[in-house]
Amino acid sequence: MAEPSPESRSPAEASPWPRPPLQIAHGPDMGGGLPVIQYWAEKTLSLKGLRIWQTLLHKSACLSCAWGTGGQKGGFRNELGEPLQRCMKSVQSIAAELAPGLEPHFFDRYSLGDLQELTSLEADRLGRLSFPVIHRAGSDRYEPINWEEIFALATVALQPPPERVASYSSGRSSNEAAYLLQLMIRALGTNNLADCSDLCHAPSSVGLSTVFGTATSLVSLESLQQADGVVLIGSNAPANHPRLMNELIRLRDRGGKVIAINPVREIGLVKFGSPAFPLSSLVQGSEISSLFLQPIPGSDLALLTGIQKVLLENGWVDFDYLQAHTENWQAVIDQVSATEWESIIATCGLTLTEIVAAAEMIHSSKNVVFAWAMGITHQANSVDNIYSIANTALMTGNVGKPGAGMMPIRGHSNVQGFGSMGVTAHLKDSIREALEQLLGKSLKRESGYDARALIEAADAGEVDTLLCLGGNLYAANPDLTQAKRALGNIDTIIYMATKPNQGHFHGLARQNTIIVPVFARFENPHKTTVESGNNFVRLNSPGKTHLKEADLVTEIDFLAELAHRIHGEDPIQWRRLHDTRYVRQLIAQAIPGYEKIGEIDDTNAEFTIGGRIFLEPKFPTPSGKAEMQTTPLPDLTLPTLSE
Ligand code: SF4
Repeated sequence: MAEPSPESRSPAEASPWPRPPLQIAHGPDMGGGLPVIQYWAEKTLSLKGLRIWQTLLHKSACLSCAWGTGGQKGGFRNELGEPLQRCMKSVQSIAAELAPGLEPHFFDRYSLGDLQELTSLEADRLGRLSFPVIHRAGSDRYEPINWEEIFALATVALQPPPERVASYSSGRSSNEAAYLLQLMIRALGTNNLADCSDLCHAPSSVGLSTVFGTATSLVSLESLQQADGVVLIGSNAPANHPRLMNELIRLRDRGGKVIAINPVREIGLVKFGSPAFPLSSLVQGSEISSLFLQPIPGSDLALLTGIQKVLLENGWVDFDYLQAHTENWQAVIDQVSATEWESIIATCGLTLTEIVAAAEMIHSSKNVVFAWAMGITHQANSVDNIYSIANTALMTGNVGKPGAGMMPIRGHSNVQGFGSMGVTAHLKDSIREALEQLLGKSLKRESGYDARALIEAADAGEVDTLLCLGGNLYAANPDLTQAKRALGNIDTIIYMATKPNQGHFHGLARQNTIIVPVFARFENPHKTTVESGNNFVRLNSPGKTHLKEADLVTEIDFLAELAHRIHGEDPIQWRRLHDTRYVRQLIAQAIPGYEKIGEIDDTNAEFTIGGRIFLEPKFPTPSGKAEMQTTPLPDLTLPTLSE
């Protein structure tokens, strides 16, 4: 029997979801430490502990973040084969995927009104999606649907004029699914391939491409281990990329320096206890930041300009390097020189002493890695921020040698792989030409919708069909009201997902919203691959799901079958793409630097993508030199008290 709707309940019983009272705890005095061990113990000694251990030891990459661990070297090993490289976030994400499946009558019991009350965490904790469902216009809930009807509806929905079809994806899926998705969508005649990375590190890709001709990290893990300085900007690595902390601890242990730049004094960036070093770090903690700078939010560029000005005024700029390996350096130097100290200090809110201390540390270090996360990319002047980081690195000769370089810290565990596979609204010419050769026809050249443009277009009634490979487009948007309205203008939305999220309950299409339950990475019956933020490709072995009664599909099988139904045998045999080995061979032909993926089924040899790591200052720009960019100071106004 259906539950009463929230409106019909008394205030005291208004929600069907029991919630514990809010508790406010005092903050810890360091990040990591014994609470991490306590969490591991609670999870891995629980009823599903055995299954968690089996998954941790399974030869597949960590689901959680793009720092990357696991794969063929073993669940706890990084790309250099070092042990104990798995963090609490990894356990969290595995435990969530090992949740029981939703029971068959779940959507009979709960209406959309009920489900829309859930927080993001509560939606995630409902359990695994274990059978396909549809929400039809006019109904107040999801209902089961069979596969034949899904494919029939999806095939019709993907027939509108191609410019009215779009996809959205998140970086949790595989390279193979990503490649297949973009091939199918582009073969339709559109480049509307929005991706979650449009909302996070797109400025890094644009900035790095402009300056260095490459869009990803220029630093490998091996190279990072040779650094004696790290400048970490706008990142809460202790919470989001915990294993990066191991590298910072090692760097401090070998006498190196860490400059943390963050408006918020994240305690884990001050001190962190790492389980990877049980005797020396776990309990007492390790000092992380040698210098912690807290600029006004959004003013990082002013701080970086200040550092450059100190370098210049003290004769610490490496002009030989600039002349030999960069373009446009004189304009950058002139701009730094002309920028007044008063403006720099007023904008960033730091003292001259603090800025000088940072510049001195960079100058006195031999090899410095500049790393950043979304504190840098979620600014109005994000691309300028990347340019300014690059300028600082180049002025000190810290790009294109071991132990130094530019290192964006990426989020989702395969977000970078999606970009490499061509899941982007703006495709590189070299990949487009390879795809054209495969498909035997020319592809559209105009850019498609990125994630924001997609919402704007849907809001304007210009999108009929949306295919989502993972992700939560609704909640990823800054304006949820607009996102809900925009998604409601789309006739058909198909969500592929392992677990429910708020987008499934708020991001409803006008006609049909279909949720396709898929296997998690470590459950797929075939091999897949993913790419880490350090440009390392891992191979995921086949696995099994614990959901014995579930009606799941693999992302590859769903996309290949859908592509076959839309495109038939034209111009390629789409059903051949059910075979992920064949997909990898196609990837090897189309994606620069990915040649080794064509042999990975035979060799099991994971690899660093060719042409991505720069140990010499020669860059894939037209001149072979880094193309420095001038960077105006941001014009910041502090909010008033009433705001
Ligand atoms: S740091 Fe990232 S990749 Fe490594 S174990 Fe933790 S979540 Fe996984």
